[in-house]
Amino acid sequence: MSVLLKNGLIVTATGSYTADVFVEGEIIKTIGTGLSVKADETVDATGKYILPGAIDPHTHIDMPFMGTTSSDDWRTGSMAAACCGTTCIIDFSLQGKGESLRDAVDRQKGKADGKTAVDYGIHPGITDARPDVIAEVKKAIHDYGTPSFKIFLFYDFRVDDYAMIRLLEETKKHGGLVQVHAESFDMIRRLNEQFAADGTLAPIYHARAHAVLAEEEAVERAAMAVEFTGSRIYVVHLSSGQGLWRVKAARDRGLRVYAETCPQYLTLTEERYNEPDWNGAKYVMSPPLRPAESLDDLWLGLRDGDVQTVGTDHCPFNFKGQKDMAGKDDYRKIPNGAPGIETMLMLLHTEGVVKGRITKERMVDVLSTSTSRMFGLGSKGAVAAGKDADIVVFDPKRKFTITQKKLHQNVDYTPWEGWEMTGMPQVVYSRGRKVAEWNGDQVKFVGEPAKGKFVTREPLAAF
Ligand SMILES: [Zn+2]
Repeated sequence: MSVLLKNGLIVTATGSYTADVFVEGEIIKTIGTGLSVKADETVDATGKYILPGAIDPHTHIDMPFMGTTSSDDWRTGSMAAACCGTTCIIDFSLQGKGESLRDAVDRQKGKADGKTAVDYGIHPGITDARPDVIAEVKKAIHDYGTPSFKIFLFYDFRVDDYAMIRLLEETKKHGGLVQVHAESFDMIRRLNEQFAADGTLAPIYHARAHAVLAEEEAVERAAMAVEFTGSRIYVVHLSSGQGLWRVKAARDRGLRVYAETCPQYLTLTEERYNEPDWNGAKYVMSPPLRPAESLDDLWLGLRDGDVQTVGTDHCPFNFKGQKDMAGKDDYRKIPNGAPGIETMLMLLHTEGVVKGRITKERMVDVLSTSTSRMFGLGSKGAVAAGKDADIVVFDPKRKFTITQKKLHQNVDYTPWEGWEMTGMPQVVYSRGRKVAEWNGDQVKFVGEPAKGKFVTREPLAAF
């Protein structure tokens, strides 16, 4: 199978130019102007952007959590990703007590294999940092194809600072990366106790308990651990301007502290928790949505390079039947998480590029190129000869009104219901196979759910 994309504007992290792209099999074979090659299919891409497929480095598919399981399985979650222009997702697999990292990776691979529409990788989440698990980090980097490791400073399965320090040392030595959920457990614990004593347990108090200061403290602590070890760290789902200031301050003193943010922290504010009829529960996630000032700060961080990537933290729970299982009168029992896997590219384009907050080249960088570098995905991340043919033919003028009815993610709401988008995928290719296409008034899935494969990621630089 071969495809020739004619006359599109190829957008890269460093610049854009008009050319033809010839895809043969799974790979981008040639890029040039006026290519005259025979292809099975020719697409006129005049007026369209040719983007590398987005890489979503932060998803929780089919994940048991807080007495339930996130509502997307690999089939629905990966179809939703494809329809958004995301052609690779990196999901987490949290180690259970007593489990090895091998067990954790295999467990999630077992759920994904034969069910995914796009390629995927796995970040082991380390919750039980026994000496044999620390020793296994080297193997995970070099043999399992999983060079990044998530740790939590919040939740019951958090690790202590000693474990963080040991993991920073091991990943530095062998070419890995620690990803940190940076929130202070004890500050939030104390605020939870106070709100419980006062009987103030509506969803807005979730946001108050997860105070900005709790994020700042944990980012700062992680940065000091980087200073202590000389290693590097990646802060997942950075949510606040003040947290960003801590990241910037660390980077200014030469520390390798990286950050990811999410569309929800760039577009939604904490006002959402006050929506009537307990609708605020839809936005109960950790960290929570923040005041409006944080949005501007995070866009600046994204523009200026202090935030390197965007991921969705897609962790869907149905409003009816899951969010309301036990938490109707107590925000502490509402499953933490919200859907986002199917709306990342359209939101970044509409709210970022169209509004002039970032360039389209920067959008490609934070959604794909920088992400591929950060996580050892050398075969992806750019439209360039020799790379996997993960390509989005993107119509920058196409209008779409977000509504859950027209999305493929398996959940009963979207936080962006009714938002008007400008710019949507026209066609999406995953390793040369057409997986999604604009049809009528929405993007439809046209691929096969089982063709995605596990991507063995490369070790990162050791130092
Ligand atoms: Zn997450």
